[in-house]
Amino acid sequence: MPLSDFQPVIGLEVHAQLLTNSKIFCACSTEFGAAPNHNTCPVCLGLPGVLPVLNARVVEFAIRAGLALECTVKKTSVWSRKNYFYPDLPKGYQVTQYDQPICEHGKLSIDTPEGEKVVRILRIHMEEDAGKSVHDASAKESLVDLNRAGVPLLEIVSEPDLRSADEAVEYLKALRDVLVYLGVNDGNLEEGSFRCDANVSVMRKGATVYGQRVELKNINSFRFIKQAIEYEVARQVDVLESGGKVDQETRLFDANRGETRSMRSKEEAHDYRYFPEPDLPPLHVTDAQLDEVAQSLPELPRAKLTRFTSQYGLPEYDARILCAERPLADYFEAVAQHFKDYKKLANWFLGELLRLLKDEGGSITTLRFTTVQFANLLGAVEQGKISANAGKDVFGEMFRTGKEPEAIIAEKGLAQVSDVGAIEAVVDEVLGKNAGEVEKYKAGKKQIYGFFVGQVMKAMKGKGNPALVNELLKKKLGE
Ligand code: ADP
Ligand code: MG
Ligand code: ZN
Repeated sequence: MPLSDFQPVIGLEVHAQLLTNSKIFCACSTEFGAAPNHNTCPVCLGLPGVLPVLNARVVEFAIRAGLALECTVKKTSVWSRKNYFYPDLPKGYQVTQYDQPICEHGKLSIDTPEGEKVVRILRIHMEEDAGKSVHDASAKESLVDLNRAGVPLLEIVSEPDLRSADEAVEYLKALRDVLVYLGVNDGNLEEGSFRCDANVSVMRKGATVYGQRVELKNINSFRFIKQAIEYEVARQVDVLESGGKVDQETRLFDANRGETRSMRSKEEAHDYRYFPEPDLPPLHVTDAQLDEVAQSLPELPRAKLTRFTSQYGLPEYDARILCAERPLADYFEAVAQHFKDYKKLANWFLGELLRLLKDEGGSITTLRFTTVQFANLLGAVEQGKISANAGKDVFGEMFRTGKEPEAIIAEKGLAQVSDVGAIEAVVDEVLGKNAGEVEKYKAGKKQIYGFFVGQVMKAMKGKGNPALVNELLKKKLGE
């Protein structure tokens, strides 16, 4: 049976690092890139005799994510110890939540070729990150950096609702967008602040029981997630096709080879012996706390996208780009207060503004010009005061210097001539000088029309208002 006779089934576990200033159970900084073991204290080093103190921000962020993902936020949840031995885990256990996580039963919508699909979220829980083993700094030893030990994470586990690698990637992008919009995560896969493990199985089409799942680890880009899942699906189908059976195991994705390989099998599977964390009482969330977080939730990416298409009448393509990042969307709306041709405005955003930000650097939150200046420039183009091309020059100058558009237009002498009398005089002069061409034109050689436009524009140093130039030329040529 070919691949197409099988149905992939995928469930994802995402670990998202929370954007708190301090760690989950101590006051150490969470900053990235500090000298090894600089951000540590007796608590996150796991020294005996210390007690954890829960960072309230972590709970707030977990509730934020839970509400945004339409979960039930539980009034009581419980901390557990997950025991395993590893050099980067000084306590010998990770503090996490196990059978009573803070959030359950949520959902997230994604776009698929067949339309919108709702992916169910099984659970969201809080936990602490482990440290990092560094194997390549020395030939003889492995080193341990505990700066990351105790950095807060959210683990977000989906139901096995995804049916292809593409759906898995869509889900991850949508989830990342939500977390970044909420301000709880920076969405950086490469730096590992948004990490994903993929659980993959296959079953014959029409089957009602899922196949044996394999867990894939170590995938740190959207492209690799797609590759890893597709490789793994094909591998499992091969195994089943040749009469074998898929083993329950954890496999690592090898980005260089584009394949997955076994890391540990069921026999070596961890027995974590979870038990309740005696140093932390059960966590209670009050109604007041829930209300407060609910009040402060921003509009989420999907809702914003829908509103941008309806309220501003934008094509979905434009709306998608504008809503990809919250500051960009906010800035669009701020300029839209002052300039009402929304499609034209979107064109400037997608064209000039994003190009300048990409080519010349800078960020949407530190632009040198105001929303009103931006709108004034677009107004000047709209009213024919300057040409569209001149508008782009002025915009570039505003971008670099923050000068008033009017000042730049005056300084560079870019103002278009829209004075009918002035244009008419030039048109008359051009037609008078080229009487022979005019004859030919009138006799039917219509293709030389562009020549007249060119002559008028040349005489006016490119500053004639094109609409007026055309109007007057046609009138004089008897059209
Ligand atoms: P574990 O700690 O054993 O990985 P979790 O509950 O944390 O268990 O995660 C289980 C993940 O595996 C979930 O994302 C779930 O959707 C997924 N999953 C469960 N069964 C299957 C299956 N048969 N095929 C693919 N994914 C599955
Ligand atoms: Mg797992
Ligand atoms: Zn610490």
